[in-house]
Parts: sequence; C-alpha cells; structure tokens
Amino acid sequence: MQRIGIIICDRYNTCNGGKCFRAVRERDGAFKKYVDEEVEVIGYSTCGGCPGGNIEYVASGMKNYGVDVIHFATGMLAGYPPCPNIDVFKNHIEKNIGVKVEIGTHPMPTNYLLNHKNIQDIPSNYKHYWDNLADPDEAKKYDSSRADYNEELKMELEKQKS
Ligand code: SF4
Repeated sequence: MQRIGIIICDRYNTCNGGKCFRAVRERDGAFKKYVDEEVEVIGYSTCGGCPGGNIEYVASGMKNYGVDVIHFATGMLAGYPPCPNIDVFKNHIEKNIGVKVEIGTHPMPTNYLLNHKNIQDIPSNYKHYWDNLADPDEAKKYDSSRADYNEELKMELEKQKS
C-alpha cells in the first residue's frame, strides 16, 4: 500500500484534479510504478502561491496522515512558465520533513508537449522530469484538446463500472 499526497501549483487552484485522479486510477504517468500496489490518496492541496509558502505546512500535515510519498502535480512542470522552485521544494520536503517526493502525476499531454516545444521554455535541469512523463501513447490519451477525448473517457469510466 502506498499512501500518496498530491501538491499542485497554486496558479491552477481551481483545477478539478481530473487528470491527476484519472492517472492514479489508471496507474498512468508517475503512478505507473504502483501498478501492482494499492494506492490511497490521503491529501491534495496547493503550494499556496508563489513562492510556495504552503509547501512546508501541507507536507508536514500529510506526514501526520501517514503519507509515504508526495507527488508534485504535472502542472508544476507544465505551467507557463514551469515552476522555478521544484528542486528547492523537493529538497526541503525530503531533507527537513523526511518524506520522499516524486515529480509529476498525470502523463504530459501531447498539447502541453507541443506548446512548450514551440516556446522552448523548459529548463535543461527539468528535462529528466519531462522525459519520465512523456510516453507517446499516454500523451495522446491525456490530451483533452482531442475531439474524441470526452467520448473515450466516458467509455473508460463505463468499462470500470461493469
Ligand atoms: S509557480 Fe511554483 S511557487 Fe508559484 S504557484 Fe506554482 S508551484 Fe507554487
């Protein structure tokens, strides 16, 4: 059993979390590693806004609720621009709070990949984070700009019910 916490970028604090929770359920993206394990999401919150004043508080709280690993949402990498503090936050949570951090939640959708490729705004030290989330099949699956995205999602959800 893995108890997971998810911290998102506060710029997207109205996000419904659909892609992250879909990825947990489907064991896609950064959750692929838990394919043979049970997973419980014990918390979901934001960094609190730049420069991330809620990181310490929320990570400590998640630790109290038994979190094994905290995932930073893919939106931290996919924002415009990507969050500049990812490595600082990760280092702080791992060294000062004592909880492991993984970068990413849902796969990086094709439309996000193309947009950032055009802008060329991905820092070179983030490349390995992107590469871990950029499986081409999953990128297509999570691209909600596709005309058939909602239909495919609906079928997936119906299949799970049956
Ligand atoms: S860019 Fe980073 S520090 Fe700013 S709101 Fe997003 S996650 Fe928080």
